[in-house]
Amino acid sequence: MMKSNKPRIIVVGGGAAGMMAAGIAAKTGARVLLLEKMKQPGRKLAITGKGRCNLTNICEIREFIEHFGKTGRFLRQALHRFSNQDLINFFNDNGLETVTERGGRVFPLSGKAPDVVKAMRDWLQKCGVTIRLNSPIDSLLLENGKISGVTVAGEEFPAAAVILATGGASYPKTGSTGDGYRLAESVGHNITHCQPALVPLICSETATSQAAGLTLHNVSVRLFINQKKVRDIFGEIMFTEDGVSGPTALTLSGSVVTALKKGDEVELSVDLKPALDEKKLDSRLIRDFHKRGKESLTSILRGLIPKELITSCLQMTGIDPDRQGHHITTQERKQLRQWFKELRLPVTGHRPLSEAIITAGGVDLREIDPKTMASKLAKNLFIAGELLDLQADTGGYNLQAAFSTGYLAGTAAAAEILA
Ligand SMILES: Cc1cc2nc3c(=O)[nH]c(=O)nc-3n(C[C@H](O)[C@H](O)[C@H](O)COP(=O)(O)OP(=O)(O)OC[C@H]3O[C@@H](n4cnc5c(N)ncnc54)[C@H](O)[C@@H]3O)c2cc1C
Repeated sequence: MMKSNKPRIIVVGGGAAGMMAAGIAAKTGARVLLLEKMKQPGRKLAITGKGRCNLTNICEIREFIEHFGKTGRFLRQALHRFSNQDLINFFNDNGLETVTERGGRVFPLSGKAPDVVKAMRDWLQKCGVTIRLNSPIDSLLLENGKISGVTVAGEEFPAAAVILATGGASYPKTGSTGDGYRLAESVGHNITHCQPALVPLICSETATSQAAGLTLHNVSVRLFINQKKVRDIFGEIMFTEDGVSGPTALTLSGSVVTALKKGDEVELSVDLKPALDEKKLDSRLIRDFHKRGKESLTSILRGLIPKELITSCLQMTGIDPDRQGHHITTQERKQLRQWFKELRLPVTGHRPLSEAIITAGGVDLREIDPKTMASKLAKNLFIAGELLDLQADTGGYNLQAAFSTGYLAGTAAAAEILA
């Protein structure tokens, strides 16, 4: 086969951002080589959304940006250039039907994350991207402040532009081992402090281990830092062997990690009956204790809370499990009410970065042009995806950010070298 002399773009990392960048650059007319360190691209993408891949969210762009907190503004242009609707159209046009679920979350209709990877791979092939697997990049080559290529195990791969999309440092078995931080630093980029975000929390209360595996829907979870309420969210919480996980706990985890690092006291308070105010809850308890007056409290509780929480409820309130409904005192009813409305879970730690959904921190956004994802420090270097200092709540926002920044980087890199 004839070797092309066309200048080429090298994309480092075949995740959501890298695959999007590579495909769009090739579609624009550039010669593209995608280098991926693992045996397969898209290993993380294939396990997202509990295997179902929540690929984006249909909320308004303004709301989208809010889910990224302080760094959200950086994404404004990327999200306008390649929006959530553009991403949905992209997958639909490439044979992947999608479905929108509660909370505006978008999934493949098949419910299978690997189908998203397959759609991307088929598209890359159609666009003419060359993929080289088992190729971990170990350095970036720089000549007079301009990127000239990369090395893989010492072998040089020249390039007119490089797109770095190596992801964060969580779930390292998927290939995201934080290499990009070192590579970006090697050309002068600053990495803002990396820490786990969207990470399960560790609680000292045994209530969690007793109920391990239980998921509660429609609860309200409040976060207290140094006894001051800082956030209140509604949704699902899951009990684990050593603490809590699930959307509400994960969303609060960013603030928890920061607070714990400062040595602050952190506590979650779960309202198990958010639809009932104190008065309505009391009427419900009076009614149940009256109707089932001869039954033990343990038996009555079965109608009020999941069985996995009964032991904790009895232990934490200290009420005799055999006490009959008729004999429950006003004071005991108050204790139960308090427990239902404020199940207190002191938080003592969090699971490690390797178990986090995303890595908070990354390449300092002040060093990246938000219109193109171009590095302001090394010419013809572009950086996209989770490697950047971007992190959002759960709900499809993180993948959209990876796809949108990848799209911008691919388009801009192609424009740069084809000009
Ligand atoms: C369990 C789990 C579930 C998630 N679920 C969702 C979800 O449902 N919705 C959502 O929006 N977000 C979800 N996320 C977050 C989302 O997956 C990431 O934000 C997103 O994958 C980041 O994309 P990326 O392309 O930047 O990085 P990655 O997907 O991490 O891809 C980086 C790629 O670069 C490769 N690489 C790394 N170093 C090198 C090197 N030196 N040389 C060559 N290649 C290299 C890696 O092997 C990898 O293939 C989830 C994350 C996890 C861990």
